[in-house]
Amino acid sequence: MAAAAGSRGAVAPPLRIAVASGKGGTGKTTVASSLALSLAQGEPGLPPPPPPYFLDCDVEGPNAHLFLKPDLRRRRDVLTSIPHVDAAKCSGCGKCAEVCQYHAIAVLGKKTLVFSQLCHGCGSCTLVCPEGAITEEPRVTGVLEAGRAAGGIPFARGVLDVGEPMATPAIRQLKKWAIPAPGPAGAVVILDAPPGTSCPVVEAARGCDYLLLVTEPTPFGLHDLRLAAEVAAELGMPAGVIINRDGIGDAGVDAFCAQAGLPVLMRIPFERTIAEGVAQGQTLVEIHPEYAPRFRALVATVLEQVGSQPMTSSPSGAEPVRRGRARP
Ligand code: SF4
Ligand code: SF4
Repeated sequence: MAAAAGSRGAVAPPLRIAVASGKGGTGKTTVASSLALSLAQGEPGLPPPPPPYFLDCDVEGPNAHLFLKPDLRRRRDVLTSIPHVDAAKCSGCGKCAEVCQYHAIAVLGKKTLVFSQLCHGCGSCTLVCPEGAITEEPRVTGVLEAGRAAGGIPFARGVLDVGEPMATPAIRQLKKWAIPAPGPAGAVVILDAPPGTSCPVVEAARGCDYLLLVTEPTPFGLHDLRLAAEVAAELGMPAGVIINRDGIGDAGVDAFCAQAGLPVLMRIPFERTIAEGVAQGQTLVEIHPEYAPRFRALVATVLEQVGSQPMTSSPSGAEPVRRGRARP
């Protein structure tokens, strides 16, 4: 079964796995990078499979390049549409400010102000303006970069400009730019999500087939895992857990996983050699190559889990999550 993980049929849709954690510092990127390298290696004695795609969606602090060392040759600006108000046409009716959920536009008397740093570029104010006083102007908020990484892995990342608070449009554009629909047939796409459980994580995970949650067995890890599991439930996605630094804490994470029906797919022990290697930019599979077949087996397990799920829609009204995919 493990062999199937990296050599799926040419007509199968891509398998998108988002790697997330409720907080930073859990080893999420180490896991995501190791997963990618393990799949790129393929099974010993078999022809090498097409390498997986890797997207670093942590646009506020991307660091997967430290592990996968990509040669980034393609670039494109991240553009966010910001409203511009024509004062000559504006009547000061206030409808734009009323519709804006992000308090990015305010009307003071007959003067309408736009706070571009708060604007999500949703376009609602333009739609509701009765005077046609609002036009949208593109503003560069970051850059998308792509190239090949170690193992021939197609790698892409987004980098927000310093001080830009809006990560979600950058992640949305990164996903569309790097993996245009319908995506590479039969390939595995790994998305390294931002830490936390807020909108950027949801944007990274949206449309994925599986959420791989990386945590550590401590009360803090448990707290954040609970929140991350809620994101998976909200999006209607199957999820599994990797316990990193196993052995440092207590059994609370295991008890929660058992109660929530979250499979524990891998345990990575707390070990000085791993910590030292990661600090020097090594992935887990470079430090301990015996983890490579374990990561490939993990993806095979994910395929089994995804294949057993019915088609559902997100309860929040997000785009439907693809389920019930053909088994390889
Ligand atoms: S909705 Fe249009 S006319 Fe009304 S305050 Fe806003 S910009 Fe001015
Ligand atoms: S585009 Fe959306 S977020 Fe930006 S000011 Fe208009 S309504 Fe607010």
